[in-house]
Amino acid sequence: CRASRGSHVTPVGKDDLPIHGVAEVLVGVLGGGQLGRMLCQAASQMAIKVMVLDPQENCPASKLAYHHMVGSFDDSATVQEFAKRCGVLTVEIEHVDVETLEKLELQGVDCQPKASTIRIIQDKYLQKVHFSQHDIPLPEFMQIDDLEGAKRAGDLFGYPLMIKSKRLAYDGRGNAVAKSEDELSSAVTALGGFDRGLYVEKWAPFVKELAVIVARGRDNSILCYPAVETIHKENICHIVKAPANMSWKIRELATDIASRAVSSLEGAGVFAVELFLTKDDQILLNEVAPRPHNSGHHTIESCYTSQYEQHLRAVVGLPLGDPSMKTPAAIMYNLLGEDEGEPGFHLAHQLIARALCIPGATVHWITQYLYYLYCGRNAKATEDGSYHHCWTFHGQCRKAPGFNVI
Ligand code: ADP
Ligand code: MG
Repeated sequence: CRASRGSHVTPVGKDDLPIHGVAEVLVGVLGGGQLGRMLCQAASQMAIKVMVLDPQENCPASKLAYHHMVGSFDDSATVQEFAKRCGVLTVEIEHVDVETLEKLELQGVDCQPKASTIRIIQDKYLQKVHFSQHDIPLPEFMQIDDLEGAKRAGDLFGYPLMIKSKRLAYDGRGNAVAKSEDELSSAVTALGGFDRGLYVEKWAPFVKELAVIVARGRDNSILCYPAVETIHKENICHIVKAPANMSWKIRELATDIASRAVSSLEGAGVFAVELFLTKDDQILLNEVAPRPHNSGHHTIESCYTSQYEQHLRAVVGLPLGDPSMKTPAAIMYNLLGEDEGEPGFHLAHQLIARALCIPGATVHWITQYLYYLYCGRNAKATEDGSYHHCWTFHGQCRKAPGFNVI
């Protein structure tokens, strides 16, 4: 894997272009959320047409897509109809009808990444089994089918114990922590009971959470973005610091594990590998997303090739771009906004105006429901890798009261 400490991609010769060469570059994206929207933005610069399939009429990608088909990415007939119109099919969410993707692949539809990858990733337990079979370090884990099983896991792994639902989990919805055996039953109930399909993970005593975006081309070439630190607030990614402030050795280890994890999967695209760094400098894999990820938004401003452009390059068979940073450091703040009808709209504009007073700050406001502030270029890394923020920013919105950054 080519880690990105200032490395540059070897220019591709004329004869090598395109590596795969999809005749009409019409990319179908299952899902039209914020990631889909940012894919559309990148596509518009590359003469790539993006069609999205999303049930929500005014989904974030809707207005920027070449075409928005309104329908469910979890409905077989709809996915089949959508696939007919696309040159290559990809995802911005993993909770899609994977059985249909498998069928379509047998009929010759080009899915990137492959349906086998989506199948593994959309079930977190299956993911864990897969990666442990490929010698990727993970927190210990175990399937649980009843309370007795959960107690046995608690005896084995100790407390706190992380209980997770296997499927349809995001933003921490699908996780529950039992601090002691007494809390097992309520944690299971909070997750919807054993019928939902649960498993447990040993608590990972991490000192930092990291993420590495890994790009994989159709020729199986792999490039890694610099490892970043992610800081979560109520299970939602709140701050991303790029690059992560840690030793060269740990950066290499994180990059190597992320690269090996992605190599064990099939198909092209960008993949986000979430990792834990423990006190004793171990790196454990948490989970992988087979798509662009919120830990990679900063790449739009801070890297030579954004994760969105990279995903499109990968799935259509263009040469991968340089993932290294063109700024010493970048920071992203992720602010959750308001629901429609709440005063968030007004606050968002205030926040944006204040953010734009900061030289070098960039705002990405995705929808009226959700807005984000990405501050790139304005953080400076010192020689020992620590951060100096050469700006101060105070913003506030109702759902992130007291948002306050210095
Ligand atoms: P999601 O799909 O919602 O992102 P994750 O499985 O990544 O769910 O878990 C969300 C957060 O919960 C992680 O980012 C981490 O902070 C914490 N977490 C997850 N697994 C563990 C674990 N085994 N030990 C300790 N904390 C964990
Ligand atoms: Mg996660």
